[in-house]
Amino acid sequence: MALDPRKERIYYQDPYQFTFEALVTSSMPQAGRYVVRLDRTAFYPASGGQPSDRGTLGGHPVLAVDQDAEGVFHLTHAPLAVGERVVGEVDGALRLEHMRHHTAQHLLSAAFLQRGWQTQGFHLGPEVAHVDLRGGPLDLDAAREVELVANRVVWENRPVSDRWLEPEAAAALGLRRPPAVTGPVRVVEIEGWDLCPCGGTHVRATGEIGSIRICALDRAHQGARVTFVAGERALRDAWRRFDALARAARQLSVEPLEVPEALIRAREREREREQVSEARLSRLVELEAQAMRQVARNPDDIRGIFKDRDPLEVERLARRLGELGSFCLLVAENPGAPGRVYAARGEGEGADLGEALRGALAASGGKGGGSVRWAQGVLGALADAKAFLNEFRP
Ligand SMILES: [Zn+2]
Repeated sequence: MALDPRKERIYYQDPYQFTFEALVTSSMPQAGRYVVRLDRTAFYPASGGQPSDRGTLGGHPVLAVDQDAEGVFHLTHAPLAVGERVVGEVDGALRLEHMRHHTAQHLLSAAFLQRGWQTQGFHLGPEVAHVDLRGGPLDLDAAREVELVANRVVWENRPVSDRWLEPEAAAALGLRRPPAVTGPVRVVEIEGWDLCPCGGTHVRATGEIGSIRICALDRAHQGARVTFVAGERALRDAWRRFDALARAARQLSVEPLEVPEALIRAREREREREQVSEARLSRLVELEAQAMRQVARNPDDIRGIFKDRDPLEVERLARRLGELGSFCLLVAENPGAPGRVYAARGEGEGADLGEALRGALAASGGKGGGSVRWAQGVLGALADAKAFLNEFRP
């Protein structure tokens, strides 16, 4: 039978009590685990966007905590003896982070509502938390304004309290949102700032949140998703970002704040280098194409295999030979890769080069294609490049 949740759930009376003693009232096997119920518990079950607590019961790890019509239950690997008293230990460091983030969410939601954004959902994950807002697109400036306001309320160290009220009395207070439950409502108040129905765990004064940092803004249907961190996670998140920036700064031999400018300069230099090397490649391709035509027995039918050459260079060469009026068939051979075939035909009539190459390559397990004057493809794994070169007739 369900007990009065206010007595059964220790976190309602004191969210800072992490060690407790309780009577095991039930311990049932279920899918390789045990569903353990107690006459009272300090473990918070997953609800309202806040994840469940972790810790131990009688020394056994608590894998998850949830609730149903009968109240809170704990999942363990081992059975517990019904009728015996056990000591429960909630992971206090984790719970405190949950309390900081949950209270931070109240502050952010209230601050966003003042500017017209309504909170539609809240989720607290193992690394970051987010609120889903409705109320149109949100830009960085507006988000920063809210972030600053919320942090000022943190620094004011306002008391956070809760009380149970009948629904009518709760509604008369002017809550930020209507309660989702029927019957007595638990109202959480941040003094002079926010009144909200909530069953979660919160810190007793806003200063304990430490700081709130918005770390991502994403567009969402009818609004935005605001990802944030608070408490110790805000500090660790800042360290991670600073370390990443410092690593980039060392690579660029500049100060961390000079990284963006240094990257822009590096990209400009890269573009200039690319232009220079492109001009060089064009000259080389031109010289090589001219030389090949001069030494060829038949400048109108040039065939060759290029070993360990960039296939893109071989392709450029084939295209240039085609422009110069030759028929050419070039193969680029590189270790560990199938031979790449390029064929071009300059002036003159002839069959469709793409069709011809596709057919010839397919016969050797390769593939390719193209158009009337240009074709390319890859040789089959077992095909002999030299034989293919000698035998192909478009
Ligand atoms: Zn709450």
